[in-house]
Formats: sequence, C-alpha cells, structure tokens
Amino acid sequence: MIAAISAFVADLTRPRTVAGMSLRPLAVGLAVPGLVKPGLAVFSAAFGWRDVPVDAFADGELPVALGHDVRSAGEAELAYGADADDALYLPIGTGIAGAVVLSGSLYGGTSGWAGQIGHIPVHPGGLPCPCGQRGCLAAYASAAGIAARCGEASAEEVVRRAASGEVVAVRVWDEAVEALALALATYTMVLDPSVIVIGGGLSLAGDALVTPLRERLAARLSFRHSPEVRVSALGTDAGLLGAGLLGWRAVGDQG
Ligand SMILES: [Zn+2]
Repeated sequence: MIAAISAFVADLTRPRTVAGMSLRPLAVGLAVPGLVKPGLAVFSAAFGWRDVPVDAFADGELPVALGHDVRSAGEAELAYGADADDALYLPIGTGIAGAVVLSGSLYGGTSGWAGQIGHIPVHPGGLPCPCGQRGCLAAYASAAGIAARCGEASAEEVVRRAASGEVVAVRVWDEAVEALALALATYTMVLDPSVIVIGGGLSLAGDALVTPLRERLAARLSFRHSPEVRVSALGTDAGLLGAGLLGWRAVGDQG
C-alpha cells in the first residue's frame, strides 16, 4: 500500500507540460484514514499500517503534509461548502466518522480520535460492529452495515428496494435513519452545531435520507431547535479538495 502511494506521488509530482504550460508541483497533500498525528500515520485498521512516517510516502523533494481523511474532507467543507463555525461533517460509507468543527476550527481531541461517531452506542447489546462492540451506529447506518443487513452489495440497492416498498428494505432503512437520529441528537445535545453535513456514498440517497432524518432529529429535540441537516455539495470530492488544502498549507509552512 505504502509503495503504491509512493509510486503514485512520484508520478504525479513529475514536472509536466499541460496545454502548453509547464507545471511544477510545489507540495503534496496526503489524506489517510485511521489515527494521524503531524508527520505520522499512526494506525489504520483498514490498511494495516502502524507508525508510518510521512517520508515513507514521498521522496522528500517536495514538502508533504499528512492529514486525516475525514478531517481533511471536513476542512474542504469548511472552506468551500458549509458556511458555519460550529458544524459536524459526517461522511457515511464503509464506516462513519465525523469531522468536528468548533468555533471555526477542526477539533481532533486529545489523541486524535474525536468524531468517531460511528461507534456511539445506539442499541445496547445490539448488532455486532467491526470495532468489537455491539449496537454501534455504524452497524445500523453505515452504507456497509445497511447493505449487509439486506444481503445486498450496496446501500444504493437497499434504498431502491425501500422506495418500492419492499418490507425488509423499508425496515432496515427506517432503522438506519432512526439510529442516525439518535446519535445526532446526542451530538447536538453536547456540542450544539448549527449544521450537520452528510457526505460520503450514502449522501447520494439525497432526500430519501435527509427528509426522514430531519423529522426524526427534530422529534428528538422537541425542546429546542434542530440543527440544519443537509447533504454535502462537494459530494465525494471533499476528500480530494481537503488533500489539496493540505498541500497548500505545506507550501505556506515553507514560507
Ligand atoms: Zn463500533
């Protein structure tokens, strides 16, 4: 994995001519999953790496900025999408992690694990989750969890089946929305965001997701107003734009 990324970076950062203009890359922005600290990819369960220094990904000729995939995407949302100082950016795909924006800044927590909303318990003793616990949000509402519960390859197929009224798909979709409403009500009670932006593959469900989610969340927050809930305007490009922003910051860091 690291060799593949390193070869890709080497190819991408080669000076080249495009439409008669000679282009010379200035920096590399790299957004990776798992636990990330400055200059170090500490751990990724998905890729199986531990303590990978940033130099392992690039040959050192250009400044390289390493960031967390979800927080980098959240940074892109902050720069180009959600116009809010207190927000939650929540990409939903294979798993669910959130980028927490507090007073205009991304918040990573003491150890970089802030925003792991996918493992908020929504049903004590419920379905098993890949993290080892039971009843986590991700087991009910991640795209992978939704698909698995219906024996489908993708959540998109479940949304289609639910729209046609198929009983199992309707129940699984309903439980996914309910689980999200529970977790987001908890988040809202603690951090009071003005907007919750849903990204990742599941955001492609659009109104089928946000319309019932807004209703359920508002019902759970009956004593206060509900934060705005919408899908990301950047879609699945948020991560790419976030990596680009990391690269720009690396240039800035070099003065
Ligand atoms: Zn979990």
